[in-house]
Amino acid sequence: VSFSDLLRVTPGTRPDLAAIDPRGTPGFDGDKAAAQARVDALRDELADFQERLWAEAGQSLLVVLQALDGGGKDGLIRKVISAFNPQGTRVNGFVVPTEEELRHDFLWRVHAAAPGKGRIGVFNRSHYEDVLVVRVKQLVPESVWQDRYRRINDFEALLAANSTRIVKFYLHISREEQRERFLKRLQDPKKGWKWDPADLETRAKWADYQAAYMDALELCSTDSAPWFVIPADHKWYRDLAVAEILAETARAMDPQWPEPEEDLSAIVVPD
Ligand code: AMP
Ligand code: MG
Repeated sequence: VSFSDLLRVTPGTRPDLAAIDPRGTPGFDGDKAAAQARVDALRDELADFQERLWAEAGQSLLVVLQALDGGGKDGLIRKVISAFNPQGTRVNGFVVPTEEELRHDFLWRVHAAAPGKGRIGVFNRSHYEDVLVVRVKQLVPESVWQDRYRRINDFEALLAANSTRIVKFYLHISREEQRERFLKRLQDPKKGWKWDPADLETRAKWADYQAAYMDALELCSTDSAPWFVIPADHKWYRDLAVAEILAETARAMDPQWPEPEEDLSAIVVPD
């Protein structure tokens, strides 16, 4: 059974996050070194895929990353997403909207960042913040955020109809692991810059965020834009599972080298 099948949120079902062990390693019984060796091999496969995707210029891949603070999005980008050639890949970090962005609908800035044909787009946070932080902090009335799940599904279906393959990863960490990672930020001089006092406010609303995540996972996992819940307390398993699912996605997309427009064998390159 594939990692995609193991970790996908089946459309229409509600994942019980409390019942999914963040320290689990579904589908893998090797150790950290074995996982890292496998990721190395998958990185080569992903690099080859990216080049074919670019050459074919007919499809796009959109990778959405969501997690609580300390969930490991940045580490995942460094260790797995970096396999893609930066020339054809754009990582977009979505932070608190600007005044200009707030004057538009919530998908305006997101749509502008969607990958064109041949390109890979990575969302480090995404339009899902508009049903997560926005909902928990009550930044808009409930009627507004409630309406957004179907808007998101329609939007993602539009991208999918335009040859964009969408995969969405929720990096699932435990409350204990988040504490460990926060403590590292406070103690390690190389990590202190990541410390954000607002992360404690978010941590204090842990249950609200879990509930908001479960709604997003249930209401917005679709055949054309599935959610995957990645147990992420073990960074090596997180990297492995995401790399495996990306490779499975790449195999399904299977971009083809374009046929040359003329017979290349007949071309003579002069001395
Ligand atoms: P970081 O990812 O640590 O750089 O932090 C980015 C911050 O921007 C997080 O606290 C997000 O919750 C916040 N953010 C992202 N998108 C939105 C949004 N649409 N509305 C409000 N806050 C957002
Ligand atoms: Mg942060």
